[in-house]
Amino acid sequence: MTDHHDDLVDYDEDDDVIQSIAAVPAAVETDIAEDAKDKKGSYVGVHSTGFRDFLLKPELLRAIVDCGFEHPSEVQQECIPQSILGMDILCQAKSGMGKTAVFVLATLQQVEAVPGEVSVVILCHTRELAFQIKNEFARFSKYLPEVRSEVFYGGTPLKRDQDILRNKELCPHILVGTPGRVLALIREKTLKLGNVKHFVLDECDKMLDQIDMRRDVQEIFKSTPHHKQVMMFSATLSKEVRQVCKRFMQNPLEIYVDDETKLTLHGLQQYYVDLDEKSKNRKLNDLLDNLEFNQVCIFVKSVSRANELNKLLTECNFPSICIHSQMAQDERIARFKSFKEFNKRILVATDVFARGVDVSRVNVVINYDVPEVADTYLHRVGRAGRFGTKGLAITFVTDDQDKEVLKTIQARFEVQISELPDEIDVATYMTA
Ligand code: ADP
Repeated sequence: MTDHHDDLVDYDEDDDVIQSIAAVPAAVETDIAEDAKDKKGSYVGVHSTGFRDFLLKPELLRAIVDCGFEHPSEVQQECIPQSILGMDILCQAKSGMGKTAVFVLATLQQVEAVPGEVSVVILCHTRELAFQIKNEFARFSKYLPEVRSEVFYGGTPLKRDQDILRNKELCPHILVGTPGRVLALIREKTLKLGNVKHFVLDECDKMLDQIDMRRDVQEIFKSTPHHKQVMMFSATLSKEVRQVCKRFMQNPLEIYVDDETKLTLHGLQQYYVDLDEKSKNRKLNDLLDNLEFNQVCIFVKSVSRANELNKLLTECNFPSICIHSQMAQDERIARFKSFKEFNKRILVATDVFARGVDVSRVNVVINYDVPEVADTYLHRVGRAGRFGTKGLAITFVTDDQDKEVLKTIQARFEVQISELPDEIDVATYMTA
């Protein structure tokens, strides 16, 4: 984390004494039986609350049923009751446990659809994630036809966004976007955020960690009214980043569903393969031939490697596509959709795809290149084993530096990553 406290938003001078109303960490609740504890962070919460108990609008409850959500996950149980009351929320919970539905439901529950007024802003760090979140709003607002949501991100014609925002009938009540484009629209005064009542940052550590993105976020934040609900979410929230997040909030409810060492997913088998660089392709080929998978994500460290590897796999007749930041935006989204819709089963990606993206059929993640930092590992492998499903993560390790990163990952998340055995029981990584 770079230390740039002076350019942080400073709401209150006495910021440091902000107290969490219920500084959970949920894991310290003492009266939970041992067996229930084992389920912490599992997709079904330990308390048997149903979505009905949240007293959501009937239109939302109907949409929840249509989405096939039967029980709220633990993070939903912890956050929804407070978030629908307008409280500021800072939340850390494992990947794939349903954080998106928390802010989607909380904002839809509260939003007032005033024509021409943007009332909710959701910012996230990649365009695919913005697109995905917008789709979640579409799913859950199915029975709220008066509520409009729109997505704005770079790489697309600015005119389309301007036309939407200038038209009272089309102007969204809920705006999802990436910081660059949203800020551009604010600066040219097409987008007015003076009526915003809810402000959400998804993958907030990523958005506040990089100084240029943080600056954009701050500027957007400052163009919203002082009084509003602020909610922030991530699977990884270091102590330092929590402090930064809290400077945007007032008395936030802090919900840390899992403490840092327990962030890896229970249903996920994790292995490494020790090999040299030139053996990677052959090994990958073997794995893709021999493993059973619904869909696979393969992560590499650069755009050129993504292109090359994808080309190679396609030439070998594997149903592969790649996504990275150096391609036209409509192409990026088209590929993302195509993968989500199961037209392709193998995705070669750079870290643009490592966070937040939810493709439920991915059950295998291969780190063709070791990620640079432990947090990225956690996000990457979290693409498999989503919402309590099983999965497999295999990391290729070539040199001492790779081994160091692997060691850090194991220590930091208290996880054992052992050498890939010759045989793995399919039942351990494929949900029947
Ligand atoms: P996170 O943001 O925590 O990484 P997501 O919000 O992307 O996780 O949710 C992961 C997947 O779980 C999504 O496909 C979502 O539709 C699904 N999901 C979320 N909550 C529930 C629920 N209560 N019941 C069933 N599926 C759920």
